[in-house]
This record gives sequence, C-alpha cells and structure tokens, in this order.
Amino acid sequence: SAKQEERNTFRFYTPRMRADANRRLLLLTDLRRALQENQFQLLYQPSIAFADSGLLGAEALLRWHHPERGYIMPSEFVPMAETLGLIRHIDEWVLDGVCRQIAQWKRSGLKIRRIAVNISAGWFSHPDFVQQLTTTIERNAVDPQQIMLEITESTILHLGEATRQTMSALHGLGVAIAIDDFGTGYSSLAYLKLPAVAYLKIDRSFVDGLPDSAEDASIVQAMLVMARSLGLAVIAEGVETEAQHDFLRLAGCEEGQGYLYSRPIQADELSELLRRDAQQDTKRLTLVPPRT
Ligand code: C2E
Ligand code: MG
Ligand code: MG
Ligand code: MG
Repeated sequence: SAKQEERNTFRFYTPRMRADANRRLLLLTDLRRALQENQFQLLYQPSIAFADSGLLGAEALLRWHHPERGYIMPSEFVPMAETLGLIRHIDEWVLDGVCRQIAQWKRSGLKIRRIAVNISAGWFSHPDFVQQLTTTIERNAVDPQQIMLEITESTILHLGEATRQTMSALHGLGVAIAIDDFGTGYSSLAYLKLPAVAYLKIDRSFVDGLPDSAEDASIVQAMLVMARSLGLAVIAEGVETEAQHDFLRLAGCEEGQGYLYSRPIQADELSELLRRDAQQDTKRLTLVPPRT
C-alpha cells in the first residue's frame, strides 16, 4: 500500500542521504552567487604528443573555491549549474578566461597550440551560442584555431538541423570539436562525418584496463582504426601508467592526457612549461622522460 511504501521510503532515507540533500540545497543557493563573487578558478591540464612526448595543448578545467567548504569539483556543481540554468554563464566565463589567458601569453611572447574548453549540452544547443562564442573570441583577438570545444556524444544525440548549422558555423570559424568521453554515450556515429569534428577523446574507462584487459585493448584499437580512416585524431584520457602510455603510443594514438604527464595545473605553471618549450626551439619540451 501507499502507506507501506511511504514507510519504506522513509526507512531508506538514511542520515547520510539527508546530509547529502542538505549539502546540495546549500550549494545550490551558493552557486547562484559564485560567479559574481569570483569563486571560480581555471586549471589547465596539458596533453602530450605520443610521437615525442612534447606539449601539444591543454584542457581548461573548472574549480569552485567555496568560501567555507573549500574546493568543489565539477562533477558535483556542473549538473547543479545545468538545472539552475547557470551553465551558459559559467561556460562563457571559462571561454572568456581562456581567451584572455591566450592573449596574455601572446603579449609575453608565449604561444600555446590550443586550449580545449568543455561546453555543456544546454549551452552548445542554444541559438545564441555561436554568436556569443564569436564575440568572445574576437573581443580578445584570439586565433580561433587555438580554441577547441569538447562536447559529449549526448550533446549531439539528436543530430538535427540546428546542430548541423552550429557545427558548420564553427567549422567556418576554424574552431575544432572534440568528442569527449567517446564510447560512453550515444551509439550513432553519424556525427563523426561532420567536418567540424576533428578529435575523439577516448574515455578514461577504456584506458584504465590497458594493456592487460583484452576487451579494452580491442575497443581502443578499433576506435583508433575507425578514427584514422575518418581522418580524426585521437586523444586518450586518464593515462596514469607507463604501460598505458606504451600501449597507446605503439597503437598509433596521437595524443595523451592524464596524471602520468601532469595533473591539472595553475596558469602560471603552464606559462613556465610554455617558456621552457619556447626556449628549446629544436629539441621539444619533454613532460615525460623518453624511455630507452
Ligand atoms: P572531462 O572533460 O572528461 O575532464 C577530464 C577529467 O578527468 C578531469 O576531471 C580531470 O581532472 C580528470 N583526469 C585527468 N587525468 C586523469 C587521470 O590520469 N586519472 C584520473 N582518475 N582522472 C584524470 P575534473 O576536472 O573533475 O572534471 C570532470 C568533468 O567536469 C569534465 O570531464 C567535464 O565534463 C566537466 N567540466 C570540467 N570543467 C568544465 C567547464 O568549464 N564547463 C563544463 N560545462 N564542464 C566542465
Ligand atoms: Mg573534457
Ligand atoms: Mg572526458
Ligand atoms: Mg567527462
């Protein structure tokens, strides 16, 4: 009966769940103020070329520094920002921050090949998205080729006319798209034919089991074969061990990102890497010692 169900529901509503719900409620309230009060920070996680272990680019990753609760990770607050309708403002803040950082590096004679920015489905699919992105890039006088957008498969779940138009506008602008967490989402591959889509990021869950898991090894190899025949470059996410690095390099993966090379770091630390990269103009910067 409904009464029993109610009792059951109550029984399963543990103190732990109540604490989580309370935290969620408090954070929701605070999230509304976080942008105005400058509580967000950007970290950058470098990625390397498997060919020579040199720096290729970096992904901008957001952190919320809550005044009382310390650092809160995007897995917790991005879904909240999506429900509150704040994500477009947050993603826009990230893009502007990245463009200003690129401009600052340019003024100090440093150049990063590209920075990847994560864009939520709701904002990517919004009719104002392309215009806003163009304005931000132009205002900061950034080369659009230095910006890459990461979207997940679920963002292009329905490859409708609006998404196609967004994609071709981005392609026209020179902004490349990477499919983030590739292999974990929607199973249609039609969007891989869009000219703006230039990169696949293999989800960490497939990299985890390398090289020992025969299943993960087969899946990764199949993704690399498919990507190569479609002219897409592949970035492996979550590379943590030398054995994973070796497998991916030998399998012909182009690019790697993960704790083996670097955790997400502050802009100053990335500036230092760029400075070292620029000084060794012939010998490429090596984040990972070359193995013998
Ligand atoms: P993502 O785009 O797939 O980002 C990669 C995540 O994996 C990051 O977590 C990164 O710190 C973590 N990671 C990198 N290397 C390793 C590794 O070797 N091992 C392990 N275990 N983890 C690794 P993070 O920073 O917590 O971000 C989580 C997710 O939050 C991101 O996943 C992205 O979907 C979302 N996100 C982050 N920043 C933004 C943003 O500015 N806007 C939007 N819309 N979403 C964001
Ligand atoms: Mg990403
Ligand atoms: Mg990912
Ligand atoms: Mg992710």
